Amino acid sequence: MKLPENFGENVFNDSVQKDTLPSDVYKALRATIDAGKPLDTDIAGSVASAMKKWAIAKGATHYTHWFQPLTGLTAEKHDSFIEPEGDKVIMRLTGKSLIVGEPDASSFPSGGSRATYMARGYTAWDPTSPAFIKEGTLYIPSVFVSYTGETLDKKAPLLKSMNALDKQAKRILKLFGIDCKKVATTVGPEQEYFLISEEDYNSRKDIRLTGRTLFGAPASRGQELEDHYFGVLKPAVSEYMRDLDEQLWSYGILSKTKHNEVAPAQHEMAPVFTTSNTSVDANMLTMEIMKKVAQKHGLVCLLHEKPFEGINGSGKHNNWSMSTDTGLNLLKPGKTPESNTLFKLVLAAVIKAVDDYQGILRASVASAGNDHRLGANEAPPAIISVYLGDQLGALVDCIVKGGNYVPVKAEKGSIGIPESPIFPKDATDRNRTSPFAFTGNKFEFRMLGSQANVADPNIVLNTIVADAFSSFADELEKAGDVEKAANKITERELKAHYRIIFNEDGYGPEWEPEAAKRGLLNNKNTADAVPVFFEKKNIDVFVRNGVYTEQEAVARGEISLENYVKTINIEALTMLDMVRQDIIPAVSDYVAVLCSNVAAKQACGDMPCVAEKVTAKRLADLNDGIFGTANLLQRHLGEINTADVKEASKAMAHVIVPDMQALRGLVDEAEKVTASDYWPYPSYSDMLYRVK
Ligand code: ADP
Ligand code: MG
Repeated sequence: MKLPENFGENVFNDSVQKDTLPSDVYKALRATIDAGKPLDTDIAGSVASAMKKWAIAKGATHYTHWFQPLTGLTAEKHDSFIEPEGDKVIMRLTGKSLIVGEPDASSFPSGGSRATYMARGYTAWDPTSPAFIKEGTLYIPSVFVSYTGETLDKKAPLLKSMNALDKQAKRILKLFGIDCKKVATTVGPEQEYFLISEEDYNSRKDIRLTGRTLFGAPASRGQELEDHYFGVLKPAVSEYMRDLDEQLWSYGILSKTKHNEVAPAQHEMAPVFTTSNTSVDANMLTMEIMKKVAQKHGLVCLLHEKPFEGINGSGKHNNWSMSTDTGLNLLKPGKTPESNTLFKLVLAAVIKAVDDYQGILRASVASAGNDHRLGANEAPPAIISVYLGDQLGALVDCIVKGGNYVPVKAEKGSIGIPESPIFPKDATDRNRTSPFAFTGNKFEFRMLGSQANVADPNIVLNTIVADAFSSFADELEKAGDVEKAANKITERELKAHYRIIFNEDGYGPEWEPEAAKRGLLNNKNTADAVPVFFEKKNIDVFVRNGVYTEQEAVARGEISLENYVKTINIEALTMLDMVRQDIIPAVSDYVAVLCSNVAAKQACGDMPCVAEKVTAKRLADLNDGIFGTANLLQRHLGEINTADVKEASKAMAHVIVPDMQALRGLVDEAEKVTASDYWPYPSYSDMLYRVK
């Protein structure tokens, strides 16, 4: 691929739009994209025809509305452009088919908010995210709503939350004399993943069915040498990453950074940030392309949060900020943050929002997969707190406790070798243990799971910050002296929400009890975290800001729990299959061989056979334990009341998951003492170190 020429070659992007659309149509479309003006439906026909022409020239035969139902994945249904004319066909895309599609909605999750017989769902074009061509089909990014207007997807509420924030932020900016057309939220999601060989993948039932290993004794070498992080790329990985970059670039995705991560076989790709909506779409496409490119290289890309026990899992850091169309980043402190009233007010709004709604923020990233990370010693803990760093930390301390703020100056750095250049140093060091960290001109929300749709936490973030802005604007609009009133609000809110600020080590043992003293939530698993979606205060913030109706908010919570229950159920059933069909028979065979060896030795006279006898006894014991624990797991599964999703999710978290852990413990013990020829699956060392 040639750069920069071929960047975005598969995208109907701004320059293609400019080249192919009549100028008045182009201007109208830009006004919708840039300033949020309602789309004039009369121009749709013209856009559709230009899009179709461009797509056909690039070899497309089909088009699809591409949407993000509540499964958390993307969905598509392809229609060809053909239309009969006499005994021939013509290629056509009408304005109407660009704007709206009607897939059958009955098989998508809706959280009980809609009866199945009311299956009508509509997809509607989102012109703010560009269309693209993939494998002969024109993809049209779309929202998905029901006949009665309920949102059935993740994009519609994301767009609504962005609008809410735009509206409230502009009220604040206006009071400070700043005029702009739009305030957009921006996101840069860093994506972690694992690569294993296709051969190993095919031999592991657990990875194929659940995305992670349900069994597996640790390899003798894990990540303790700390040699993989930023290490030299293996040739196969390097080739994969190169191919991946080219694919991503062709779709206009700003892939910027690639490197090895902490765990063996773990890697990361970070893009340059863009507007939240396009960033979410790009991340969904990135995950799909990561998997597809791997296939071409004889590899499998694992996006699960915890493919392997005992080494780091994968997350997604959500870098988030807000910017005006005139280029002002609202989270940029500037050289003298202490006298930047607007910045301090914005900071207070974010801190207030995160403290008031820590529960839904935590719930927005809850999933069965992510439960393995949050709270373990690798990802941020399950407790939400805000890290500000030295500079802002000191500033906020002065505002809250009084005292004179002494600016922390960004110094010049030197490594102490005269020949080496002097370089500018950041004012603040990093903190990698905080779930919500200020990193210079943005906040980095680090709790997301690697396979999550990043729309979920961004919907929450945008909504709760919009809500804080709205309450501040209500007050400020009545005030005589805006500057003075703003400083008063900042001081009051920072004092009220000081408990959420934590600038120390989030992995340390002191933090949990300290957080409990401060009254912060600590919901360690999905079953405990998600029910906050049903609390009035949390429903109200969505309703008040026009993001969800009450029914929609409740439905999101229900779907999240349903998903959790189904995932754990699939994992438990897969474990039972593996144990009964493969593991118990394998161990039993090996025990039989050991015993017959003992018998053979004894037939030869007085030969030593302690190794065989002790191992056989140990494995026979373990196999009985495995048998019994599997039966117990099965019985407990049968006792779950699946009609009540809240109850079922609690039982999964507090009964089934511990059963699964117990079963895994026994199996992993057995693996350690079974001859590798007899063990039915590739081992951790095979999977983590096979790719060269
Ligand atoms: P680090 O996490 O190492 O500090 P960077 O500062 O380069 O790295 O940023 C990491 C991610 O944050 C990148 O994806 C980058 O595009 C994104 N980012 C930078 N500025 C913003 C912003 N204003 N809004 C959203 N994301 C941003
Ligand atoms: Mg980062």
